[in-house]
Amino acid sequence: MKHTPGLRHIILVLLLIVTYGRPAKWPTPVWDERLLPPGRVRQHHNPQRNRERWARRWVKWQRRCPRVGRAARRRYRTRILRQILHTSPSEVLVEEWKQRGRPEPFPAGTAMGKQSPTAESASELDPLTDLRQARGWIDHMDERELWAMLIRIRWPHGPECPHCGERDPQYLKLIDADYRNGLGRWCCRVCAEAGDPGEGGTFTPLTGTLLDGMRIDVRTLWLTVELFADGKASVETAKEARVNRHTTDRLTRLLRAAIYQTRSTEPIVLGPEDAGEFDEAYLTAGLKGRAGGLQLEREPRKRGLKQRGRGTWDSDRLPVFGLLCRGGQVRLFVLRNVQTETIRPIVHQMVQCGARVYTDSYCIYHFLSRDGYQHKVVNHGAGEYALDLDGDGKCEVHCNTMECTWSWLRQMIRTYRGVSKVYLPLYVAQFEFLFNRRHKNCWNRTLDVLQAAFQVEATSATDLLARVQTAQFAEVCPVAG
Ligand SMILES: [Zn+2]
Repeated sequence: MKHTPGLRHIILVLLLIVTYGRPAKWPTPVWDERLLPPGRVRQHHNPQRNRERWARRWVKWQRRCPRVGRAARRRYRTRILRQILHTSPSEVLVEEWKQRGRPEPFPAGTAMGKQSPTAESASELDPLTDLRQARGWIDHMDERELWAMLIRIRWPHGPECPHCGERDPQYLKLIDADYRNGLGRWCCRVCAEAGDPGEGGTFTPLTGTLLDGMRIDVRTLWLTVELFADGKASVETAKEARVNRHTTDRLTRLLRAAIYQTRSTEPIVLGPEDAGEFDEAYLTAGLKGRAGGLQLEREPRKRGLKQRGRGTWDSDRLPVFGLLCRGGQVRLFVLRNVQTETIRPIVHQMVQCGARVYTDSYCIYHFLSRDGYQHKVVNHGAGEYALDLDGDGKCEVHCNTMECTWSWLRQMIRTYRGVSKVYLPLYVAQFEFLFNRRHKNCWNRTLDVLQAAFQVEATSATDLLARVQTAQFAEVCPVAG
């Protein structure tokens, strides 16, 4: 009997193709979830393996501490006590024990009849032991003072209800001054009578800010922010503050997002008396991470300067465009590519018409003189780095200040040992923030960071982080190109 494929067979084959057939290579989306940092997951959820591990530990423990009977334990104790009493000839101590009625078989200085270095003998060797056990000066500060300073940064003009904005002190009442050892909890009469926003119309100074809901103690908070303002990576900060690195990582991410959100968009070069410098740099930053040990469906991240040509978003060498006012501020922008159309709106916003601007001879800057700027060029290719065009003996035409800034930017990015290009705008914003305050001391930068953190709405910074983590760079960091 001749076998001909019927309609059923064709449908079956089609179904199989639809179910199991895949193209040879899937189009790799840039934002594959597996490439992004993992959320918190239970790491070892394998009950069988856990039971085995516990059983092994139990056996080990049994071997180390064999079971003894009650009589054996009593004999052991009396033997130890006798040893201790024999080796400690002080009658005063014995009398003290008897008076207390509760003998302490292991007083400091004697352990099982042998002398061992303990707290007392250590303090004899080093009189600063108690100071050395702290993390720094912060552990010797009063918690209430630290909270008070934080509250002053949060509310420079006195308490304010975060639910309704009420500021009149007769409607705001401090109902729990000891909450979190000095943070305090207020109640707003307006909110309490109107209904129930928040917890019965009550609030703390941290309600509605980035730090809302973080159960971090105030000393660790100050320490972490101070190290952040000093440019330390979060792992270093965690070591210094003796907390888990996820704690500091979460806090530093939030601070970075707050700094990104509060960036200034004011012009920096204000007129013909100011001199501006433009330049662009390329930072190698790919997509990092192999979440959960999965195989990557893409080429590994490129390192080093192996690629020829100008860097772009797609080639993992992200261009950073920088504007600088001599003796003033710096503004940095991470771009998808560098073209005239990309940088024109930025230049128009940041630099007033008629200002003197100096660039290198890259052709994207040719529009500057057409748009009404006094544009001068140094041709790096011809070996020119600084020119004296007005003949006053000072070489004013150069963009070396900007080149110097790139050097500092690369230095700062090196701290983090490779940054994902998703997060690069946040890191660059952090650098810009700290670099513009480089003449201030670390304490003032710390205060500025906290001010920025309290300026931004909690939801907007966490939204920003969520959007950076889950997807769209273009929406998060609105750059042209
Ligand atoms: Zn209120």
